[in-house]
Amino acid sequence: MSKKELHIFDLDNTLFETPEFAEFVKVDSNNIVIKGNHDEYFMNVKAAFLDLLSKYVYFKRTGDFIVPINQQTDKPFDEDILDYFKKKISTSKMLIPHNGIAVLNAFPGFHKSPDTLGLVINEPIFQDYENADNKMIITGRNEELREKINSIFKYLGIKQPNYGLYLYSQNGKTNIENFKIQTIIQSIKEHGWDIVHFYEDRKDWLMAAQRAVAQVFPGVEFVSHLVTNVKDKRSL
Ligand SMILES: [Mg+2]
Repeated sequence: MSKKELHIFDLDNTLFETPEFAEFVKVDSNNIVIKGNHDEYFMNVKAAFLDLLSKYVYFKRTGDFIVPINQQTDKPFDEDILDYFKKKISTSKMLIPHNGIAVLNAFPGFHKSPDTLGLVINEPIFQDYENADNKMIITGRNEELREKINSIFKYLGIKQPNYGLYLYSQNGKTNIENFKIQTIIQSIKEHGWDIVHFYEDRKDWLMAAQRAVAQVFPGVEFVSHLVTNVKDKRSL
């Protein structure tokens, strides 16, 4: 008997190329961030720099990133400053490291906006999606975006996954990582998959799913596909 195989895909930066926060930020001709959108978030980050490092900053768009710049030196900050930001929950996710410097992360809730849904297919992964007989999509995007996602699928001519499009519901008490894991486990329970492929750009979620499946279904072959090609293209 042939083996039952399922291919599971994440959406953002896996099946789709997701627009970056930097694309949504207004800048002047020198790429300096100007007032007009997300002002409150930029004020919060400024306040955090003052509070944690006693530094005044402004923000500059460089490549695909928004970079906090030290007002005294006109230079970006070393990634080491992330340690200070990680000490507080309110600032712990403000910055991410990139090529040794501290760059700004998208503000909380950025991905809740329908405007941030990508309209660009990530070709190599989309090929795998097309070739898979049994497929499922699990995304951390909110259930409220289902209609919008369906219309994008229609517009781009993408077939609906025959084993479901699962969106995150905030009413549930679980976080996105657990939501993904539970959805995978549930599908194995229901359909008895022998082999499960998981395509995801978050390495930590991929590993967590692999561990969970190995624990609950040791006989199931779990194939991890870490998707890096979209983020690798982003440059400073
Ligand atoms: Mg993703």
